[in-house]
This record gives sequence, C-alpha cells and structure tokens, in this order.
Amino acid sequence: MEIRSWDFEVRVLVTGGAGYIGSHAVKALIEKGHEPVIVDNLVYGHKFVVDKVLKTPFINCSIGDKDIISKIVNGTHKKLQNTVHENKVIEGVLHFAAFTYVGESVQKPIKYYQNNVIETINFLDVLCPSKNSTSNNKIPLVFSSTCAIYGNPKGIPIKEISSPNPINPYGRSKLIVENILSDLNKAYNFEFLIFRYFNAAGASPDTSLGELHEPETHLIPLAIMAAFDEIDNLKIFGTDYDTKDGTCIRDYIHVADLAEAHVMGLEKLLEGKFRKDNEEYINQRIFNLGNGKGVSVREIINSVEKITGRSINYVEDARRIGDPPILIADYKKAKEYLGWEPKIKDIDIIVKHACNWYLKLKEQKL
Ligand code: UDP
Repeated sequence: MEIRSWDFEVRVLVTGGAGYIGSHAVKALIEKGHEPVIVDNLVYGHKFVVDKVLKTPFINCSIGDKDIISKIVNGTHKKLQNTVHENKVIEGVLHFAAFTYVGESVQKPIKYYQNNVIETINFLDVLCPSKNSTSNNKIPLVFSSTCAIYGNPKGIPIKEISSPNPINPYGRSKLIVENILSDLNKAYNFEFLIFRYFNAAGASPDTSLGELHEPETHLIPLAIMAAFDEIDNLKIFGTDYDTKDGTCIRDYIHVADLAEAHVMGLEKLLEGKFRKDNEEYINQRIFNLGNGKGVSVREIINSVEKITGRSINYVEDARRIGDPPILIADYKKAKEYLGWEPKIKDIDIIVKHACNWYLKLKEQKL
C-alpha cells in the first residue's frame, strides 16, 4: 500500500449508518468531503434519517449477505449507478451494525451471536478474501466495540490494557469480533482499528441527528422523556453503590466526538500509519473513546432538570443486573496515536443537545 498524505476524499462503506452513532459518522464523513454509502437492515436504524438528513446512497440489506456486499464493495450494485461509487471499489469501512441491548443479549444470546458475530464474519470474508492475500483486496475497517468488554474493571479510569472480561453476551460478541480482527491482521495484514466506546450521548449540535431507540433504555433520553411527562417515572437502578451519591457512574461521550474519532481513525489507517513497518503504531489498534469524566445517575437527573427547567419524577429501584458501579475511560492513547480528544465535555451541553433533538422530534413527529 502506498502512503498518501490526507488531502483527498475516499469512498467509505458505513454499516449501521442509519443508526445513532453510525448516522453521526456519516455526517462527519460528508463534512470532510468523503463519499459514504450506507448499509443498514433497518431493524434499529431509521430510513427517515437517510432520506431527510443524510441523503446518501443507501442499501437495505444484511451485512452478512455476501453477494450484495460484494456488489457494493465493487461499486456494481444497481443502487450505486450514477453515483460516485459506480464501478469503483470501496476504500474504507466503518462497521457499526450490531444489536446493542445488554439486557436482551442475556435473554436471547443466539440473536446476538448470530447478528454481531456470524454476520460480521460473512461481511469480513468479503472485505478480506482468504483466497487472495494481495494487499489490494483488503479494505481497512474501523470496528465499533464497547467498554462492556471490560466487565467489572479493576482500575478506574480504564486503560486499554485492562483485561477484557465481559459479563454479558453483548460484550462477549464484541470481544469475539475484536479477536477475529486481530487474527485477520496476523494472517493477511488486514488493517483495522477497534474503538471501545463508553456511553454515547447527546445529539448533533445543529439538531439534524440524534438518538431514537425503540425501545428506549438509556438514561439520558429516558430522563428527558420523564421531564416532559412522556413516561411517568424514571427508575434509578440502584442507590446503594459505593459511589459519591450511591448511584452508578458512567462516562458520557458526545456522539459528535465519537463520529469525529472514526473519521480521524480511518484517515490514519488509510495513510498507512498502522502498517507493519511502522513500529511505533503497529500494536496500537485498540482505543478507548470516552470523556474521561464520571457522572452519576443523580447528576444526570439534575442536569436534565436544569436544562429543561422541569422536574423529574423518579423512583429509587433495585440495581440492574450486570451494571458495573463505575465506568470511566482513560482516553490518553487515542489522544497520542489518533490526535483525538473530546471537544464537548460538559454534561450540561451534552444533555442540552439531547433535549433539543427530543423537542425537534416531537415537533416534527418524525
Ligand atoms: N439507568 C437508570 N435508569 C434507567 C436507565 C439507566 O438508573 O432507566 C442507569 C444504569 O443503571 C446505568 C446508567 O444509568 O448506571 C447508564 O445506563 P444506560 O442504559 O444509559 O447505559 P449503559 O451504561 O447501561 O450502557
């Protein structure tokens, strides 16, 4: 692979690009002049995000459908006719598509291993054909992983060298793929980066994109829904943790910062920074992406009350099974190797962006 300096745009396949984090990454790619194409099966993604906001080539399919993925990768899919992708090979991949509900993964592990692992193996087989190990046939990939692979970490803040010990099928499904990527690199020099996210939160500052999960299980959107009486009571899962106010502490990272990290990481991969001959970078493919600050459940409730000017009815409930008391990222490695660090660190601003998005959704009935 030749090393090119970063002054050109690339064609990027974004799996899960109609979902929460994926859609922000597509926006960030477009803003940097790149040419994304979205693959999403719309199980959890939203078509209106593609049609009304991103306006990007989109193919509704499973990432494990090798025939369709091959056509997309080669630019021969009929939906890519008359686009910049027609008959051109994809140059990079951001792989977001996955099921991400921890609780559901405990109830339905096969669903998670089937989707997050088996579909990904089929997908990787197209990107990295085992029959042909010439470098031209391998398309570099940034993989969405999660801090859930750490389980109950021993040290806080968590560094990437902390031993992985996931405590649910969701985390295990992500760790399996991390290991597969590492094996592909050893076998074929497959180029990849792994991003372990902490709690993605907030919405696009221009309110064009945001979080819309069905069902919603995440704290910030639920607290906003409670503030606007869309749900009766917010439940605080556990008030007897050994933390400053007894509630769980998480590291909330703005989704636009996460999106930017993906573009920066992919550009560095394509520059050849992580290639075998670059000793400084070669074993540095895994990065925590977080804010580096811990915020408790009660602090989130206070922030939502402050930003909305409304009070939240909440009940103190039992601990949620599988919730570690404290998760905070050490993101120094991403700063050192990717030149990335979060820009929107203030939880009130993160909450404010989430509120603005919520109100826009309600107003427009999207
Ligand atoms: N949480 C809560 N009530 C809710 C949803 C979440 O108290 O209705 C807590 C949860 O126990 C965790 C934190 O809020 O400590 C963040 O949870 P979320 O589901 O948003 O993200 P997770 O950390 O599970 O990925």
